[in-house]
Amino acid sequence: MAEAAVDTTEDQTVDTKVIKERLDLLKGGRFKMWLEICAHCGLCADSCFFYLAHDKDPKYMPSHKVMKTLGELYDKKGEVDRATLKEMAEVVYGDCTACRRCSMFCPFGIDIATMIAAGRGICCSQDLHPDGLKAAIQNYKDTGNQMAMSSEDFVETCEWMAEETEEELKGLEIPIDKQGARIMYTVNAREPKFYPQDIAEAAMIFHAARENWTMPSNGWDDTNLAMFAGDGKTMTAQVKLVYDAAERLGAENIGITE
Ligand code: SF4
Ligand code: SF4
Repeated sequence: MAEAAVDTTEDQTVDTKVIKERLDLLKGGRFKMWLEICAHCGLCADSCFFYLAHDKDPKYMPSHKVMKTLGELYDKKGEVDRATLKEMAEVVYGDCTACRRCSMFCPFGIDIATMIAAGRGICCSQDLHPDGLKAAIQNYKDTGNQMAMSSEDFVETCEWMAEETEEELKGLEIPIDKQGARIMYTVNAREPKFYPQDIAEAAMIFHAARENWTMPSNGWDDTNLAMFAGDGKTMTAQVKLVYDAAERLGAENIGITE
């Protein structure tokens, strides 16, 4: 289940200018129309596991969650206090995973998850995203991966896995920073940190398939928790890091884990 936001900051101020700017920016898109055309028919409700898991409590209906957050922000023209915003943060981070299942059920094609994501962006701009995500974002900024692994540790882990697996499959390698590979393979940072065997298993498949592949020593984490938090700047930087690695290595494709 999603981690609820916890406001640990002493600061009780809200930068309403930033909130208004974001609302104005979104207004040009489909958001206002979606909020206006929602018929409150409830057809999307049964598609949401939060709603089903809470005995069909109306407060977990997808449309209600959006109206209580982005809808209210529009109604109040962004003029909200921190307590209100904190309640909104509890909803957008704690009561919705932005899975988009409800969007598939709405006859009007209203994309609830995209609006929830916009609500997260607003909460994140006021430092109201959950602490776990804050820590991960800091790790992306400092090291380029959510687990704060150094490039040296990552390369050593790959070398260790190659050595162990080579006993089983002669000639197996985990090529790092190889130029001109057909596939640049990237992973979830939890793999080298906690499940390095996953990398070894991927290497076995590439080896058996005689694939021309490599892993970058930097830009190998394909997760993006900044996106979940609503931190667009760090999200973009993380995606760019991976694409830059592919360009630097002249890779034809980027492969991602799972
Ligand atoms: S996007 Fe959110 S509201 Fe919609 S089904 Fe998924 S968890 Fe429920
Ligand atoms: S989002 Fe769509 S399905 Fe859900 S209540 Fe509104 S109109 Fe009905």
